[in-house]
Amino acid sequence: MANHARLFSASGSKTWLSCAAAATAQLEYDNNSNVHADLGTLVHKVGDLCLASKDSRDAEHYIGKDLKKYFPDGLLVSTVFPADMAPPIQSYIDYCRALQTRDSVMMVENRVSYRPWIAKEARGKKNEEGFGTADCLIVSDNILHCIDYKNGSGVHVDVKNNTQAMLYALGVYNELSFLYDFDKITMHIVQPRKQNICEWTISVKALLRFGKAVTKRSRQAVSKNPKFTPTPEGCQWCRKGMAGDCDALIAHTLAITSALFDDMTNPDKRTLLDNKKLILSTIAAVEKNVIATLEAGDEFDGYKLVEGRTTRKWTEDAADYLQENYDPDEIYLTKIIGVTLGDKLLSKEEMSQHTFKAQGSPVLAPESDRRKSIQTDVTDEFSDVTS
Ligand code: SF4
Repeated sequence: MANHARLFSASGSKTWLSCAAAATAQLEYDNNSNVHADLGTLVHKVGDLCLASKDSRDAEHYIGKDLKKYFPDGLLVSTVFPADMAPPIQSYIDYCRALQTRDSVMMVENRVSYRPWIAKEARGKKNEEGFGTADCLIVSDNILHCIDYKNGSGVHVDVKNNTQAMLYALGVYNELSFLYDFDKITMHIVQPRKQNICEWTISVKALLRFGKAVTKRSRQAVSKNPKFTPTPEGCQWCRKGMAGDCDALIAHTLAITSALFDDMTNPDKRTLLDNKKLILSTIAAVEKNVIATLEAGDEFDGYKLVEGRTTRKWTEDAADYLQENYDPDEIYLTKIIGVTLGDKLLSKEEMSQHTFKAQGSPVLAPESDRRKSIQTDVTDEFSDVTS
């Protein structure tokens, strides 16, 4: 029996909206929570508590406090709020508070349903699919702000055409359109640990067009033979793909790579670069899959398991031995602290006086990248020739 709560989740929507087959194909693979996800849940909770507090509480209030009463299922590894998470969530709290006006209404951690846009035949019987929790909603006049906090510091989350945010926006529209007469929705992503704060406004008309696409895709997902459509965005977080177990993805990756190596044209090179992440992650997933096969005692033609390279390490009693037999100058290295620790020790003025940002060496980025392109001036190289 399909788990419908996971089948059309908003967080996994990039995958099932890109590939109709992915919705059901990845159900058999684990979706284990990890320490990073746990931390995000805890940090979100502090944001909710502060925004909902009557005394405009700040995140600092919760540092070192055990919040386990909010997580009675005991699933989180740690429920003590760490000090280093206070500044990022405080930026989100300040951001939401700054959007408030005298006439606006703020709603925190609101459960919203985009179920009306999941095709009837794709809905489970228990009403469990098509729900999400909107971190913070602010309604004023004819505009609705939908603010989502992201605790990650790895992947930059863009707001434009972000399907998770758009599904939440549909859910919010579903819940509030009979009360308020808004004609546009502004979605915001606040991801302070990645220095990313962005917003994107969509008209209700365009949002409802997206809703139609959701209905169509969910109908295809539960059809007899849903189509596998490998794409870099869709496959990136697909559990079937990450398990190295998707034939369609492997065939697609092989097709891209095998046709290209003779007389590569510029469009060929671009195809390779556009698919770099997909190719590398497919290879990594297949490697993991083969290791698991060999570890289970099965054979895999052409490969075996060997002991990995290791480096020499001191034994447990080595420190005592060195201290007894050698001078401190010989066995200890003293080095200056890094700039991150410097931030904690020095004032802002001192830091700006004694630090500088070195110019980064050029890296390749797609046109859509938000950074400015480097202007290279090749005439310098020919100055000797022209003068
Ligand atoms: S890995 Fe890609 S092609 Fe395969 S099921 Fe997942 S999204 Fe679809």
